[in-house]
Amino acid sequence: MNQNILLVQPKFPTPSKSLNHKDFLPIPLLKIASYHKTLNDAPHLVHGKVNTDFEPDLIYITSLFTYWQKEFWDTTEYYRTLFPNTPINVGGIYVSLFFENSEFQEKCAKLNVTANKGTVEKFEKSAPDYSFVDVDYQIIHASRGCKRHCTFCGVWKIEPEFKPKKSIKNEVLKNKVVFYDNNLLANPFIENILKELIDLKVNGKVVKSESQSGLDGRLLTLKLAKLLKKARFINPRIAWDGPFKEWKKVDKQIKILSKAGYNRKDISIFMIFNWEHNFEEMELKRKKCYEWGVQIADCRNRPLHQEFDNYNGRIKQTNKDYYIHKIQGWTDSKVKKFRKNIRRQNICIRNGYDFHSSKLERKVIPKSDYHTITSMPSLEIKKILPDAWWPDF
Ligand code: SF4
Repeated sequence: MNQNILLVQPKFPTPSKSLNHKDFLPIPLLKIASYHKTLNDAPHLVHGKVNTDFEPDLIYITSLFTYWQKEFWDTTEYYRTLFPNTPINVGGIYVSLFFENSEFQEKCAKLNVTANKGTVEKFEKSAPDYSFVDVDYQIIHASRGCKRHCTFCGVWKIEPEFKPKKSIKNEVLKNKVVFYDNNLLANPFIENILKELIDLKVNGKVVKSESQSGLDGRLLTLKLAKLLKKARFINPRIAWDGPFKEWKKVDKQIKILSKAGYNRKDISIFMIFNWEHNFEEMELKRKKCYEWGVQIADCRNRPLHQEFDNYNGRIKQTNKDYYIHKIQGWTDSKVKKFRKNIRRQNICIRNGYDFHSSKLERKVIPKSDYHTITSMPSLEIKKILPDAWWPDF
């Protein structure tokens, strides 16, 4: 063994059960682990601020969203104090987005840490080492970067060059694959990749896939949708970031997915809110999704350089707690109301309910009584279930 390598994922404010969630897996650290193993080093992965029983020769600390930078700096300061002379490398989304910021660079200099922007070639070439995490799926990037330049997105700033792969079949080790591509369909070799997945078997079993990001509906064709279905891609999500008046385009994309064999309730529309379109317009978009019978994957906008996010859906808050896009008339209550509406509507879509009620959701009212209740006039329903809420009302 040559060197002890300490890989640190700060404790970000995610629910503890999310540690191995596909959205928070420290893939860059798993790649670094893999790379160092080829050098005969001993990598160790830790979460947050812990006391190690060894003296590391090299430390890597990853960062995530800019609004979780406090956790990143707390962790970095902790390890710098614990190991004053050990080289520390930092990277990840926040580090990449703030790389040119002079205050950020001053902090790095003060703590004597080396910042890395974007991906590092030698690590990128290494496959993530899943022996450090307890998951039954694997992450694959069939491309890096994105050809588009959406204003709210940091992808094209962190990874300015779009780099597609022709093939991924030799990377697949598990029966569940989550694609981390930012724009999967923009890959010119996507048909080839989907065909590989159709035929692929791991341990004698077929492979199921999912895309973490929304599919770029503008690139969706019936041929591609059929290949996605045949390649066992589950829960397709289409992005609808534009205004309500563009609903016909989204309608066409949903019809393509339906025609390819997807159930409408398994399709989601990715929607950014607390952004360019006001609450009233977002409500029109929400109701349209209800009409279509598809779910919504909502995403609350935080600007790319937002430095904090203490959003709490249960209490009243201000923009001192989290970012509220006031320019378009968003307020704390509108943000929370929209989120709540989405949640209730998704429950209705998944269960085939005409209305939502927390009593129904918590099964205080048995599902068998639902059909009796639903045949009553809405005023009568309201007497039995005062919180009854209709998505299209
Ligand atoms: S298409 Fe998606 S990944 Fe590409 S720039 Fe727009 S939001 Fe970002």
